[in-house]
Amino acid sequence: MPSRATLLLQDLSEGILGLIYPSLCVGCEGPLVKPEQTKVTVETSWPNSPVPVYNRFTRWLCPECESLLEPVCPPFCSLCGNAFFGRSTVAFRCANCSHRRLWFDFARGAFRGEGLTRELIHRFKYENHLELRGLLGTMLGETLGNDPRLAAAENERWPLVPVPLHSRRFRERGYNQAWELCLTLRRRFPGLPLAPILRRTRYTTMQASLHREDRLNNLQGAFALSRLPWNRHRVSGRTVLLVDDVLTTGATLSECARILIEEGRAARVIAITLARG
Ligand SMILES: [Zn+2]
Ligand SMILES: [Zn+2]
Repeated sequence: MPSRATLLLQDLSEGILGLIYPSLCVGCEGPLVKPEQTKVTVETSWPNSPVPVYNRFTRWLCPECESLLEPVCPPFCSLCGNAFFGRSTVAFRCANCSHRRLWFDFARGAFRGEGLTRELIHRFKYENHLELRGLLGTMLGETLGNDPRLAAAENERWPLVPVPLHSRRFRERGYNQAWELCLTLRRRFPGLPLAPILRRTRYTTMQASLHREDRLNNLQGAFALSRLPWNRHRVSGRTVLLVDDVLTTGATLSECARILIEEGRAARVIAITLARG
């Protein structure tokens, strides 16, 4: 778990970078505008939920680019979070989920994994743009801010568990994107404890390059609990927030949830992701 000093150093380094580099939109490299200059609200049909407010990301995005991000708004599948067009006030499961065993209670993605969201994640993961973690972690926080099923997270101190990278992939990339998202999320929701208790035991082929059935086979035996014995107690009996950048088929998140429940004795696992692929 990072100390307060580490988080402070991260804040400082971002501040210094802000002095060196002029503040430009990370989407179009145009000038940024002050928050009070624009304000747009978006209607949602989710019962009793707060209305999401656009222009939360003025520190990183101009209003035009921010309007290109597509939040996952109801109606969406109550299990996998896949969004549908139209209106529905009742909870439903999509056809994809009706015959699947998924170990998480439900998955919630903040934004549709298309367009600018997809491009930002690609830059963050594959082009070494670690500085995007502030924006992307804040975008991930929209899940907790907008979904009533997640409203108790901070009061009940649900642990944040990042989906792990294999040590070899970690050395190649230099950081684990899910862990970086957790760090940013924790700054906005300080009541959420960080619990990096999963490890990746097998170096697997990139899931994104595989078909659906191959993804499931590719993951068998790929994850385990951390070897540190006290870590086993950190999720026992708790509701756990499992964090990753993107949910596509849900196979990785489901396998991680299985380990947390079967070996970590977690009461339940909820998957939150920045994007729903
Ligand atoms: Zn822009
Ligand atoms: Zn579904």
